[in-house]
Formats: sequence, structure tokens, C-alpha cells
Amino acid sequence: HAKEKGGHQPAVYTAMLDRKSLDRLQLEHALHHAIAHNEFMLLFQPKVSSATGAITGAEALIRWNHTERGIVPPDRFIPVAEETGQIVPIGEWVLEQAFLAMDQLHKLGYPELTIAVNLSPRQLEEPDLIEKLKAMLEKTGFPPEKLELEITEAFLIRDEDQAMQRLTTIKDMGISIAIDDFGTGYSSFGQLHRVLPDRIKIDKSFVSPMSTDAGKAAIVQSMIQMAHSLSLGVVAEGIETEEEMKLLQQMGCEEMQGYLFSRPVPLDDFAKQLTVRNGKRD
Ligand code: C2E
Ligand code: MG
Ligand code: MG
Ligand code: MG
Repeated sequence: HAKEKGGHQPAVYTAMLDRKSLDRLQLEHALHHAIAHNEFMLLFQPKVSSATGAITGAEALIRWNHTERGIVPPDRFIPVAEETGQIVPIGEWVLEQAFLAMDQLHKLGYPELTIAVNLSPRQLEEPDLIEKLKAMLEKTGFPPEKLELEITEAFLIRDEDQAMQRLTTIKDMGISIAIDDFGTGYSSFGQLHRVLPDRIKIDKSFVSPMSTDAGKAAIVQSMIQMAHSLSLGVVAEGIETEEEMKLLQQMGCEEMQGYLFSRPVPLDDFAKQLTVRNGKRD
């Protein structure tokens, strides 16, 4: 109940909205059912190379296919799943499905593809996260260097020793780390030094106003320059217009993700896009 009092956090606010239609306990119960009956599905949103237009990989994004409510977006249930700890089994399911899906695409002749999976703070607090990751990679034979874990900037700021240690171990395993929603957590690059990520993902809230707001464009430009000076890669998310794409290309952003290229789609649609953007293989 401690969290309920701090009603200023966006994650809690989302959970509160849910209470209007379905009380939190009911949602927790429904999630329990969803885990047991496998009501989740995974969509894939392409990341595109700014230089070539080829697909470099995908971000895995979860959906809950509820029997009565239809497709429930993650912003509705991930915050509750984090509070209850249900994100742990859900997160394991996501990782395993992501490995299996991407393995199919590697075997179809696209071995270059990476898969980005969102990791919630609660998952990084699990003492056996590393063991489970290793076991899943071994079981599926998935190459760790093709896996990228996205963690939010807000989490890094918390700077908890054990979680930071786990991040270091994850990097030592060959897995990449990306800072999701970069720019929204009010951190500075100075706070990134403890565990240097491989990549930052510039949040949509900076990308969208870029074409009309020169100030925002300047901020994006300086984020990219600073990231590059630390040898970090840059992905921009939420790109919806050609103009945003062109500006980001000029600014040297390497990878782009957004509705302009594709919405998150099922695996077979993603595979079709590959044949167009990356060419037919095998
Ligand atoms: P995120 O990781 O920042 O993912 C990006 C979100 O922006 C996705 O929303 C994506 O569909 C959306 N998006 C991408 N391009 C565009 C665009 O051009 N315009 C607009 N308006 N939106 C765009 P989605 O799929 O609803 O996911 C929301 C959040 O839920 C994610 O934000 C992530 O924080 C969380 N999430 C999703 N899947 C998982 C998961 O498997 N595990 C965990 N822990 N969190 C997840
Ligand atoms: Mg993400
Ligand atoms: Mg994001
Ligand atoms: Mg987000």
C-alpha cells in the first residue's frame, strides 16, 4: 500500500485508471489466469538502419489477449504486474518467446537481427535473474550478442548496488543494454558512468516536437553528440513522419523505430517486411 500513497508516479496513475473498470484485485486475479492460460502474445516492431533502410532487429512488445476485454495494452497491466511480482513469470515468457521467434528468423537467413526485450526494474531485483537468463539462452541456443535488454533511465538513477552488479554481469555475458525512454528520467550523462549502456533510445516526447520546435531539435542533437562521444549507439523511437526521419538521419542517429516504418506486428508480418527491406534470403 506504500506505493498507492505516492500517486504522482506515472506507473501508479496508469494502474489507478484501470481501477475504474476493473478493480486492482480483479486485475491481479485476471493476470493470474492469463499467466496460467497463456493469454499473452508478442508483437515485433522493426528497428531500421538510418544509413541503409534495412531492418537491424526488433523490439518485442507484449499484448494481453483477454477473453472478454480484447487486446489489453501493456501500459494497462505491466504496472500492476510489477507491483504484484507477476512481471517475473510474464517477463520469462517474453524472453523465451522472443528467443524462439528470433531464432526462426536467424534460420530463415537473417542472422544479423537483434531482439530488444523490455526488462522491468522488478525483474532486475530478482536474485536468480542471471541464472534464469543463462538457462534460457542455453535451452534455446540463442546467441547472447543478439539480445538487447531495455531498461528505463529512472531505474539507473536508483543506483542500487545489487541491480547494478547484475547489469554488469549481463554485459559480461555479451548481452547489450539500452536505456529506454532516454531523456524522460531527468538523468544526466554523468549518471550513466556506473554501468555504461551500449545504446540510448531517445524518447518519442523529444522526437515528435522536433520538426516544429528548434529547441527540442537542439536537445536531440546534443543527446546524439554526447552519446557518440561516449561511444554509445543511438536509436530514436516514435518516428511518425518523413521530416522526423530526415532530421534524425542528418543528426547521425543510427537506428530508427516508429509507425513511419511499422507498428508492432506479429512475427509473420515482421518476416514479410524483412523480405522487402533486407531482401529475400536462404
Ligand atoms: P517502450 O518500451 O518505450 O515501447 C515503445 C512504445 O511506443 C510501444 O508501446 C510502441 O508500440 C509505441 N510506439 C512505437 N512507435 C510509435 C510511434 O511511432 N508512435 C506512437 N504513438 N507510439 C509508438 P506499447 O507496445 O503499448 O508498450 C508500452 C510500454 O509497455 C513499453 O514502452 C514498455 O515500457 C512496456 N512493455 C511492453 N512490452 C513489455 C514487456 O514485454 N515487458 C515489460 N517489462 N514492459 C513492456
Ligand atoms: Mg522499450
Ligand atoms: Mg521507450
Ligand atoms: Mg515507454
